[in-house]
Amino acid sequence: MLCDGVTWLDDWFAVEEVAPGVIAIGEPRFHQINWNYLILGERRALMFDTGPGVRDISKAVRALTTLPVMALPSHMHFDHTGGLSGFSSIALPDLSVLRACMKDGWLMPSDDLYVGYWEGMTWVPVKPTHWLAIGSEIDLGGRRLTLLHTPGHSPDSVSLHDKANGLLFAADFVYPGKLYAQIANSDLKSYLDTAEALLPQVAAATAVLSAHGKPDVQRLHRAPRLARHDIADLGNSLRSLKASGQRPAAWPVNDRMSLLLSDEAFRSWQEAG
Ligand SMILES: [Zn+2]
Repeated sequence: MLCDGVTWLDDWFAVEEVAPGVIAIGEPRFHQINWNYLILGERRALMFDTGPGVRDISKAVRALTTLPVMALPSHMHFDHTGGLSGFSSIALPDLSVLRACMKDGWLMPSDDLYVGYWEGMTWVPVKPTHWLAIGSEIDLGGRRLTLLHTPGHSPDSVSLHDKANGLLFAADFVYPGKLYAQIANSDLKSYLDTAEALLPQVAAATAVLSAHGKPDVQRLHRAPRLARHDIADLGNSLRSLKASGQRPAAWPVNDRMSLLLSDEAFRSWQEAG
């Protein structure tokens, strides 16, 4: 079930060191095939996404590092925040859409941000311990991650850029397969604006690491990797979609990705005329 270089940590979590000090923690038995990233520094570590919570990812993380770990979800969707309550240090991007989710110190995202109702998941309230400004650097000791706002898939989506090591943790902005741009909070203008904002910042050789994988032709799993040109292809396909005037239910990006669409996704384009 796993590619060479990927190993089972237990009967649920698969791990792959995708770059020195970066451990992808995959859940290939979950139908969304989530990949979460444990990013190690010299002083501390960051857990980018916590999976759907079918199993407790914090236990897996404790088996992988003795460093203090701060968890940061890429966005509020249930399959990224399910294990958040297992962490005592929880960071959130300082976005108004997330500040609006706070009730008496507890993070309580709306159904449209969490979308747990898709799969009968129940939100477990957590108390964020850090609010991180967009554009700020997260210093793990010997590794700096820049927090980027990357809306499109959802308004609260963020990515992490490890510029020195040529890594972009893109979460659900791009991944191999069908991109969810058809859901209530997806927005195509944001998708295009994010692609255009990312391209000048991301070097050509950057490895783009995504939050959802796809088995290869032999049904083997590994952490999903895309490249800068996939972001360029996404931008080009969104421009051609806009120019076409069409409102299809799906639109191809390249041989690795396509966009799933709905009337909601087109709303901001219609408003812009
Ligand atoms: Zn998502």
